[in-house]
Amino acid sequence: MAIAEALSTLKQALPKSVELVAVSKTKPLADLQEAYAAGQRHFGENKIQEMTQKWEALPKDIFWHMIGHVQTNKVKYMAPYVHLVHGIDRLKLLKEVNKQAHKNNRSIDCLLQMHIAQEDTKFGLDATELEEIIELYKAGHFPHIRLRGLMGMATFTSDEAQIRSEFAVLKNHFDTYKNEIEAFDTLSMGMSGDYPLAIEMGSTLIRVGSKIFGARNY
Ligand SMILES: *Cc1c(COP(=O)(O)O)cnc(C)c1O
Repeated sequence: MAIAEALSTLKQALPKSVELVAVSKTKPLADLQEAYAAGQRHFGENKIQEMTQKWEALPKDIFWHMIGHVQTNKVKYMAPYVHLVHGIDRLKLLKEVNKQAHKNNRSIDCLLQMHIAQEDTKFGLDATELEEIIELYKAGHFPHIRLRGLMGMATFTSDEAQIRSEFAVLKNHFDTYKNEIEAFDTLSMGMSGDYPLAIEMGSTLIRVGSKIFGARNY
């Protein structure tokens, strides 16, 4: 019951305009099933192999979000079913997703991941790289991709002013492109530790794991 309760508490405080992705990485199927029974349909994973095993085992009306760093050679495994790829952090990856989407006769929704944190361990594009990819997209280079927006992770810190300013940078870039690109409507920012701030700063999708499923044992 703990999972269902956590979900309902979270959802009560969430504006209608904000989508909740339940981040279930490392968690067993039983935990996802409990969340599913409580009505949760959007799940986030950060490893393609694990996500594919869960996709095979669970009901087919689940929307699967790939939120992790994606290796190009593994895109093919998720291409048939993935709902949204959050971590597009290089041109080569976008090309591969486009190619695999084509092979599967579909288009795949993607977010471009920006590097907004101070830690240099977090992946992502800088403003110049972002613009380059968006120009190529607008020029029609990725016919099997639908760019839906941006994703980013703030620095892991208790300094709220810093987190706010990093989210503000992402929101700014999002607003720049929102009116230029059709269907560019998703700003994926906010996790268990910082989602209230992210929502304040304009997030439309939060990725929450430990707050729903409890701490992870790696
Ligand atoms: C693990 C993860 C989350 C969820 O983290 P919590 O702190 O458990 O909510 C969100 N986004 C990404 C990209 C992650 O890898």
